[in-house]
Parts: sequence; C-alpha cells; structure tokens
Amino acid sequence: MAVKTLADLMEHLSRVFGRRHRLYLPNVADRTFALLCAVDNVQDGVRKGASKRDLSAALAEAVARTLCCVESYGDIPFVEALAAKYPLNKCIYCHKRPCECTERRAHHILVKPNKVQSSWSLKQWCGSFRATYGKKNKERGAYYCLTRLFGEVAEFVALQMPGADNGSSSEILERDIAFELADIFAWTIAVANVLDIDLEAAVLKRYGKGCSVCKKAVCACTHFDMHRALWHVKKT
Ligand SMILES: [Zn+2]
Ligand SMILES: [Zn+2]
Repeated sequence: MAVKTLADLMEHLSRVFGRRHRLYLPNVADRTFALLCAVDNVQDGVRKGASKRDLSAALAEAVARTLCCVESYGDIPFVEALAAKYPLNKCIYCHKRPCECTERRAHHILVKPNKVQSSWSLKQWCGSFRATYGKKNKERGAYYCLTRLFGEVAEFVALQMPGADNGSSSEILERDIAFELADIFAWTIAVANVLDIDLEAAVLKRYGKGCSVCKKAVCACTHFDMHRALWHVKKT
C-alpha cells in the first residue's frame, strides 16, 4: 500500500515496527522515553552542526517515535486532534495566516476538524504549518522550536502521572492526550520547517521500505539494536 495520508503513514509504521514495539516498548512510558531521546538527538545535531542528511534522519526518528506513542493508545483521535487545533487556513489563536500571535496569546477555542485534513499527507501538514507559522518560527530559530518541542513532551509526561485526569472522564483524558501528541507532532514539523527539511521525504527515506537498521519490511531489531547511535556529527 502506498503511503499517502498521515493515517497511511501511521499504518505503515505500525506494520514495520508494531511487533518490535509490543516486545521491547510495551508501555507508553518506555515509548515516551524513546521519543525524548529522539528529540534530544535532534537538539544535539543542531547544536553540533550536523549535516542536513543526518538531521533529516534524526527528525524522521522523532516522527516515528511520536507515532509509536500514538500507537500505544489504540484508536486515539490523533489526526482529528491535529485538525481541531491546527485548522487548514488560520492560526487557532489569532485567526490569521500567517500567525500574528504574541507569546502571551489568548485562550483558543477548538474548531470543528475540516474533513479535508483527514486525508492530508505529512507533506501537506508541513506545508500548512509553514504557511501559518513558518515565517515567525524562522525568526525565532531552531532552538526556540526545540524548546517548545521539549515542553510538549514534558506536558505529555505530565498527562501520564497519577491524577492527571483531574476527576474528568477517561474520554476527556484521552482527548487531552491526543492534543498533547498533536502538539508534539506540530513542533517537530516546526523544527523541520525552520531547518528547511522535507519531513515527509525524510521519513519515507528512512522508513519507506521498512526498518533502516535491519533492512527488513517487518523490523527484526532487538532492544539493543534500537539504541544504536543514529548518526555521527562531522568533525570541524
Ligand atoms: Zn496566531
Ligand atoms: Zn529493524
């Protein structure tokens, strides 16, 4: 099956890595830890001036590990959450494109997800984020976007703590988790856009034919293989 939509990509990655995830990353906490390591790897690459090729691979891994967290919740409304918070033609806070928000922006009201977005590819999501937030994020720079990305991962961790439901229903907690994962995804896209990296091409290059480490269509890596160093920074 060709990978077209974001849902296709999630399905593809589950096909390739589902078994490995079930065996070696059975809990969402393990998956979150793996995601945090991937985000840190991107940060490390930016700091050390890694090549665009290596940064693309590191960002692709961050995407795969975010979707690995999504996978652990089963049918969580991830794409719907993304569409509800990041509508197709405006910023949800200031209602403008490009976004004109200041740091201390007003509270947002979620929009009804536009059906069109449910069939968007990762490339289309990246293009939409570029049109709404690209200029502003370029001015803020990669470190700003990385800081926000780390913050979103921390918020996702907070939602896994006991009492995170705050007395609300499991359905509301599940929705909040979907929104947090959508934010992580959004800031990963922001980092890629600031670095002028085609995130979809990066993900397909790394995972389009299966696992980039064991080279199999259904990954046969062990826990040990997963922790291999992803890339080396060129010496200056
Ligand atoms: Zn805005
Ligand atoms: Zn593998």
